[in-house]
Amino acid sequence: MTPMTSPQPRPNVAEIPPYVAGKPPTVRPGMTSYKLSSNENPYPPLPGVVEAVQAGVAAMNRYPDMGAVALYEALAQRFGVPVEHLSVATGSVGLIYQLVQAFCDPGDEVVFAWRSFEAYPIAVTAAAATAVKVPVTADGRHDLDAMAAAITERTKVVLVCTPNNPTGPAVTQTELDGFLAKVPPHVLVVVDEAYVEFVRTSDPVDGLATYRGRDNVVLTRTFSKAYGLAGFRVGYAVAPAPIAAALRAVSLPFGVSTVAQAAAIASLERQDELLERVEALVAERARVVEGLRAAGWDVPEAQGNFVWFELGDRTLDFAAAADEAGIVVRPFAGEGARVSIGETEANDRLIAVAAAFAR
Ligand SMILES: *Cc1c(COP(=O)(O)O)cnc(C)c1O
Repeated sequence: MTPMTSPQPRPNVAEIPPYVAGKPPTVRPGMTSYKLSSNENPYPPLPGVVEAVQAGVAAMNRYPDMGAVALYEALAQRFGVPVEHLSVATGSVGLIYQLVQAFCDPGDEVVFAWRSFEAYPIAVTAAAATAVKVPVTADGRHDLDAMAAAITERTKVVLVCTPNNPTGPAVTQTELDGFLAKVPPHVLVVVDEAYVEFVRTSDPVDGLATYRGRDNVVLTRTFSKAYGLAGFRVGYAVAPAPIAAALRAVSLPFGVSTVAQAAAIASLERQDELLERVEALVAERARVVEGLRAAGWDVPEAQGNFVWFELGDRTLDFAAAADEAGIVVRPFAGEGARVSIGETEANDRLIAVAAAFAR
């Protein structure tokens, strides 16, 4: 064996794919540019939220409440679940890392749809587990039959992303029930509900009802999207007590900051305003999808705060055309582009760019 001359990370570390963050908007003189590349909420914080974090700002020399007691209380009340069934974390990306860390040994398999959320292969590879990617269908839906068939003796976790980022469709409750019936009881099923507030289908997943009857289902949710707190990094899992306890055990101590805790609590208190904003974004989404379809685009069902364009090798050209028009999208080279629903003006530009591009 060759002697090592410097400290070496585990071999899997070199295999971790990079996270490609959405680009900020290009500055163009005389033109407002919009960032539609990270599925952020275009609205400012909900009323009262900025005020609620002020006290935390002044106390930045103190560590946050490690137990996040008030936030746990607020979540438990809001969703009607025991505190022991909750685990708060630094966004749902934090939760996904924790889930893989707590449930997978090196070489264990994690099954998920692909293309799906880009943090999945990163978290799985970081834990030296093995990513098993099951292609989505032609219309961007999870192929849950194929995902069930992909479960082996090594499978510890299955990630179900609904609505799926970046393709858009949501899993139905009927599909999820059928899938769960096929999953062995020792395999953990994570339902990533980052966009749950935006779903408008006739058979939506009721995550809370689904986890209640089962020992192997965990929901992950976030304040980053509908609640507009992406910059503060706070999310939560809802799970049976032993799973929630495992998540808390591996969590980063003091990960959720004082301001994040305060902002999340204040946002939970503004449910009416939240729902109004979500409804406005859902209406904008419908308008965008309709405009795109009228222009000849065959976009998949959009149930999150974004739309997906399957573009193949025209992806980067499309992103460049959007950039020209002052909107930054998230291209996945060779595959397609994801575009967030944003300000009305930004959405108008998207429809115009896409219509011109199609011709
Ligand atoms: C945005 C997103 C998340 C949430 O990320 P945070 O870490 O909570 O900001 C989780 N899952 C999916 C599918 C997402 O798109």
